[in-house]
Amino acid sequence: TIGMLALDKNGRLCGACTTSGAAYKMHGRVGDSPIIGAGLFIDPKFGGAVATGAGEEVIKTAGCHLVVEMMRAGHSPEEACKIAIQRIIERDSSNKKDIQVGYIALNKDGVYGGYSIVKGFDVSVCNADGNRAEPTSHQI
Ligand code: ASP
Repeated sequence: TIGMLALDKNGRLCGACTTSGAAYKMHGRVGDSPIIGAGLFIDPKFGGAVATGAGEEVIKTAGCHLVVEMMRAGHSPEEACKIAIQRIIERDSSNKKDIQVGYIALNKDGVYGGYSIVKGFDVSVCNADGNRAEPTSHQI
């Protein structure tokens, strides 16, 4: 999945995502990307979030909606993403080390952040300082 979040000079926030879905998926499977609130959610007053990785986990936790609600409650984008990752890990006791989920989030002030279960999830940033890849924080 590729997820994008953008904030223009007038403060307008938007997001989009595209995906090929999970490898070896069952015919007819619907992943998280086309479900608003799961793989993508924007609240123009507060911020937006997009997800990648194990879509079932993202759907079951309404992941991107949770990220945006946490920003609305006052958390930074990175903290909000971390809370949503921890929600996945806490949901049941099965071993989550075999799956990857990553979130990125952007708030109305242009602050962004990301968090993933497993190390190695970078975010590509394009702003007045140029284009670059930045590592995000991670659980494992
Ligand atoms: N999130 C996608 C899905 O579960 C998979 C991916 O990110 O590659 O459909």
